Amino acid sequence: MTKRILHVEDLMVSFDGFKALDIAFFELEEKELRVVIGPNGAGKTTFMDVLCGKTKPHTGSAMMEGKDLVSLNEQEIVELGVGRKFQTPSVFGSLSVFDNLMLAFKTDRKVWRSLFYRLTPQAKTRIEEVAETVGLKDALSMQAAFLSHGQKQWLEIGMLILQDPKLLLIDEPAAGMTDEETAKTGRLLLDLADRHSIIVIEHDMEFVKQLARKVTVLCEGKILTEGPIEKVQDDPQVIERYLGRSHGTRAEKAERLATAPAAVGSAGGNP
Ligand code: ADP
Ligand code: MG
Repeated sequence: MTKRILHVEDLMVSFDGFKALDIAFFELEEKELRVVIGPNGAGKTTFMDVLCGKTKPHTGSAMMEGKDLVSLNEQEIVELGVGRKFQTPSVFGSLSVFDNLMLAFKTDRKVWRSLFYRLTPQAKTRIEEVAETVGLKDALSMQAAFLSHGQKQWLEIGMLILQDPKLLLIDEPAAGMTDEETAKTGRLLLDLADRHSIIVIEHDMEFVKQLARKVTVLCEGKILTEGPIEKVQDDPQVIERYLGRSHGTRAEKAERLATAPAAVGSAGGNP
């Protein structure tokens, strides 16, 4: 039987009167991997910002384990078990992969304390396990600055996992990755979904298809539709609004939606 981990109602964020986010209802099951897609400026990142406490909504609630994330601060949300990965990797380039992972280890969050932290054998084993999960086991002694862009993203995902979050929020993990790295990231997320609930924002339709999970389409801050990718892809509203004012027959638009990540834009970033 599935259990719900997140229940969102009437969540509205307005920037100077502009409604960037207006979600009437959103639910996520435990161990679900949900993909959020939508055009640039649709409110996807804002949604994650609200769930991790970075942005406070004007109205609404986001209930997780009987607590409303809206009323908690960022640290409290982390402690409740929400891990957020931003689009740009932020690893310590001068440190080794192992040390980056060690600093992220759940028992010690603050860098200045971690420097004096003595690693238990169990912690070391856990770090090695996670390094293996994210495909960095052979790179543990490597300085993080020398990792590829894809490897840095995986390292950061590894750092998140070491905090043992129940809910992982991942914003455009495949942005800037090679096809091979993108495919590997997809496999990693599917693997992680055995243990965590995950919301992932993504533009790359090949990646979304690879994940083959329930998709939520955001458009102008609202949920346009939800469902399996095959269904969402054929939805006339999605075709019309996702691709905006572009020309072409419906079939051509559907084809573009299916094949061209650039059609939905990828200029949006995180601070
Ligand atoms: P997405 O991630 O789907 O591309 P965002 O959530 O980043 O979209 O942005 C949604 C809308 O809110 C955009 O129009 C963006 O310009 C606006 N926006 C986001 N953050 C802010 C902010 N801090 N101040 C003002 N407007 C913002
Ligand atoms: Mg964004």
